Amino acid sequence: MPDTAPLHGQTNPLSVEYFDVLIVGAGISGIGAAYHLSTQCPDKRFVVLENEENFGGTWWTHKYPGIRSDSDLHTFGYRFKPWRGAPIATAEEILRYMGEVIAENDLARHIRYRHHITHASWDSETKLWTLEVLDKTNGLPRRFTCKFLYMCQGYYRQYQGYMPEWPNMAAYQGKLVHSEEWPDDLEYTGKRVLVIGSGASAATIIPAMAAKAAHVVMLQRSPTYFRVGRNAIEIAEELRALGISEDWIHEITRRKILFEQAKFAKLTFTQPEQVKEALLDGIRGIVGQDYDIATHFTPKYRPWRQRMAFVPNGDLFHGIAQGKASVVTDEIERFSEKGVITKSGQELEADIIVAATGFNLNVLGDIAFEIDGKPLDFHETVTYRGMMFTGIPNMAWVFGYFRASWTLRADLVGDFVCKLLKHMDAKGKAQVEVALREEDRDMPILPWIDPENFNPGYLMRGMHLLPQRGDKPEWMHNQDYWAEKDEFPQIDLNDAAFVYK
Ligand SMILES: Cc1cc2nc3c(=O)[nH]c(=O)nc-3n(C[C@H](O)[C@H](O)[C@H](O)COP(=O)(O)OP(=O)(O)OC[C@H]3O[C@@H](n4cnc5c(N)ncnc54)[C@H](O)[C@@H]3O)c2cc1C
Repeated sequence: MPDTAPLHGQTNPLSVEYFDVLIVGAGISGIGAAYHLSTQCPDKRFVVLENEENFGGTWWTHKYPGIRSDSDLHTFGYRFKPWRGAPIATAEEILRYMGEVIAENDLARHIRYRHHITHASWDSETKLWTLEVLDKTNGLPRRFTCKFLYMCQGYYRQYQGYMPEWPNMAAYQGKLVHSEEWPDDLEYTGKRVLVIGSGASAATIIPAMAAKAAHVVMLQRSPTYFRVGRNAIEIAEELRALGISEDWIHEITRRKILFEQAKFAKLTFTQPEQVKEALLDGIRGIVGQDYDIATHFTPKYRPWRQRMAFVPNGDLFHGIAQGKASVVTDEIERFSEKGVITKSGQELEADIIVAATGFNLNVLGDIAFEIDGKPLDFHETVTYRGMMFTGIPNMAWVFGYFRASWTLRADLVGDFVCKLLKHMDAKGKAQVEVALREEDRDMPILPWIDPENFNPGYLMRGMHLLPQRGDKPEWMHNQDYWAEKDEFPQIDLNDAAFVYK
């Protein structure tokens, strides 16, 4: 389909490639989406456009020492591809697993690397999306059109972490790095390191750096919950010893993990104190009875209000017990030439300061969206189950779970999208969008997520960029895998919430 319309000021004719479905991103969601399309909708022509030179998303772009998952790979892995290793996996192992999925399902031919999508516009007349893309292999603009846009772009800006502004930062003479922007050549052998933050990234970086650094200090404003345990799943080990097939082991282990997680999540609501004590006991068992757990590892909030990092084999706490790492719970007042000065007046000197201070939210891949010539304000939309959005035709979005593995939802959304595409074909319709129904008219419209339920900083900072929700299960992303695994397959595509044209 040749097109002579100018693109980004360029006047040469552009060739346009058409696909039935265009997947944005080749992270774990995008590769999963490609698998689901190729197996459930084999007649659809699709392409995956990826900005990086490789698949993997998060697991490709993160380079800090020790980078690993904090969920188990039986559930963070796809439901269709058994995970054979230890449950907590390194980025390298996850990339290898994804590479196998690509090779085993002949997906490589669908992926275009180094393709950065900058604009997406929907035209109701042609019922097509047009995407404007920079081909980074040659610096030339390209144009793609598609019927359906499958957004697997993740939720944070790659290579750009959230760096709070502290007074006097410029005075610091050492090296300041952000965990999201790790320099390839950072040498830390024998150096004094200060890590700011106590989330999953800090919990990974600290034991990894402590192995070579002179000493690592974790500076946290307030404590976080951690779960400590062996990096192994007993039932998987037992089944493996019995010679059970890997397919079965994967399925049974997934069910067992999900069953235990559901029980755990319920307990955090019904018996938060008991859960809290059990979590603290895990830490106490390593750092010893005399360690000041009350100050450094006892959060003020109920367990599960923020994502809880799993610390495999308690490595972070063994580092503390052995004196290779230590914790300071205090706030930064200002930076000094040698490090930071805390509000209590302590100067923490460091050769390297690592800010493990989180992400910047990135909704819709930083792509400028237009619907029929009008710029899209994503915040004005209301979400249908965290997958589709009022006023945005022919688009689905993968946003995973916080309290369960992301990929569980990527698989559920994959089934939904394939079912929806087949339903559209059966109806002979080229356009679908979701719309509030008559009975939804008086429904309160609320922020994307209830901060009482879950409130990590990157979401709180970005709430004004995210879509809104209603107060009914179909008009929210309810973060409940255990409900959605049964509800999603039952979604009635003839419900009035779906409008076909
Ligand atoms: C360090 C770290 C550890 C984590 N550990 C876990 C964990 O253990 N368990 C868990 O459930 N979750 C974890 N998460 C959350 C994690 O990001 C998701 O689980 C999952 O990897 C997201 O996959 P994704 O494919 O949706 O997005 P991403 O991995 O972010 O991939 C999105 C891809 O889309 C591409 N893209 C984006 N915009 C564009 C564009 N405009 N044009 C072209 N390409 C584009 C990006 O280049 C990227 O490759 C972790 C996150 C981080 C940062």
